[in-house]
Amino acid sequence: MSRTFFYVLSSCLLAAGLLPAATLYRGGAILPLSGGPLGDGPIESGYLLVADDGTIAALGAGDGAADPRVSAARAAREFATVDLTGKIVLPGFVSGHSHLWQSAFRGITPASELPAWLDGLHRTYGGFFAPGDFGAFTQHGAFDQLRHGVTTTYNHSHFFGSSFENYREQFTAELATPQRFIFAWVNDSKADDATWRSRLEPIVKQVAPRPNQPLLGVSINAVGIYQAPAVLPREIALAKSFGLTTQIHYLEPSATQVEDRALWPKYQAAGAIYRGMSFAHFIHADDAIVRDAAAAGAAMIWNPLSNGRLASGLPPIEKYLAAGLRVGMGVDGQASADISDPFENVRLGLYALRIRRENAGGLQPIDLLRLHTVKTAEILGVQRYVGSLEVGKFADFLVVDPGDPGTGPVWDVAATIVFACSSRNISAVYVGGKKIVEAGRVVGHDAAALEADVNARVRAIRARQSAAKK
Ligand SMILES: [Zn+2]
Repeated sequence: MSRTFFYVLSSCLLAAGLLPAATLYRGGAILPLSGGPLGDGPIESGYLLVADDGTIAALGAGDGAADPRVSAARAAREFATVDLTGKIVLPGFVSGHSHLWQSAFRGITPASELPAWLDGLHRTYGGFFAPGDFGAFTQHGAFDQLRHGVTTTYNHSHFFGSSFENYREQFTAELATPQRFIFAWVNDSKADDATWRSRLEPIVKQVAPRPNQPLLGVSINAVGIYQAPAVLPREIALAKSFGLTTQIHYLEPSATQVEDRALWPKYQAAGAIYRGMSFAHFIHADDAIVRDAAAAGAAMIWNPLSNGRLASGLPPIEKYLAAGLRVGMGVDGQASADISDPFENVRLGLYALRIRRENAGGLQPIDLLRLHTVKTAEILGVQRYVGSLEVGKFADFLVVDPGDPGTGPVWDVAATIVFACSSRNISAVYVGGKKIVEAGRVVGHDAAALEADVNARVRAIRARQSAAKK
């Protein structure tokens, strides 16, 4: 291909919006949140070069003028520069535990802890979902998380005994949104191993992470511990045979913590305590459980907003970390969070730990940001692609403007993000180098139409449930 033809072709594709230019973002503070040579600290004024394939090509302090990678990109082809003076760039948040479909059920059963909340939501309405409901609700949740700066989510799906096709909408709906996701697959416990494998295999085969694709991975949402005794070992064997991670809700409600802790030997016997395991919540673990989990490389996902809403409790995060347990964070489903805002999640989480400790030592704002990004990505097995700003990773990042709404001067970049900013300060969200959210709205998405559809669907579900009760 001649150089002239290459430029003409590139210009046409650029004009059509199909091929983004390499873009240099400069002038703002950068929080790489990486463990690499740049360390964890903020770069007070730096640059981030995003290649036209949607990956990070370079970053560092200064304006990039002396970086040969920037010069090469500038010389090669279309090149754009974006000035971010006064703004802060950080990786997109990673939610290590979410149920996107629950986005349509916020504020439900406000006076309940987990068991009664499950009765009021899953067991009251789960049996009345019609075709299209799971899909619409899942998209509602995904777009909502994107607006709040969650660029990668672990979508822990549910099976309500309806058809497999209805269930699978939770997967296909996310494929049609720009949010990256790891799909947590739940098996129909009545089906046999061969059916499990035949249903799961095509989805696992679709996983081939690329900057411009939402599907990042598949995991197993294991529910067998709460069902028949034989189911959990089958789930763990299935996960391991495909090389997948597993996640289980464990040690969440306070009321049943004694019985829940007594389940630990069953997890051990099933081979469930392995490096791929993450326990969602894991609030009431005792020392022996923490020791066993840490020794095996297992992990926990902390969900402060949800744990507060459902009065589940506050896990001793600093004690867990000191014991070597891996800790990530999630915003959980929007029916228990009830806003999927990672800014609120890190602030509430850190404040809650300090309220209990009556001491401001221990975890600091930057630690919470690391837990909700790169540490969660590591637990989910996707840290090669997302979770920090590092060369070669996907260009998933937030541009936060502490000046809009105004929060005053920046004394400490991480503290400004965690203590002083909320998702209202997000000026843009990028996924794979592409601007997905601008001024609080998902670009090209008709939020009002989806809102109306979701409202109509929930009205219909309530009508079917109410008619069945009579
Ligand atoms: Zn959950």
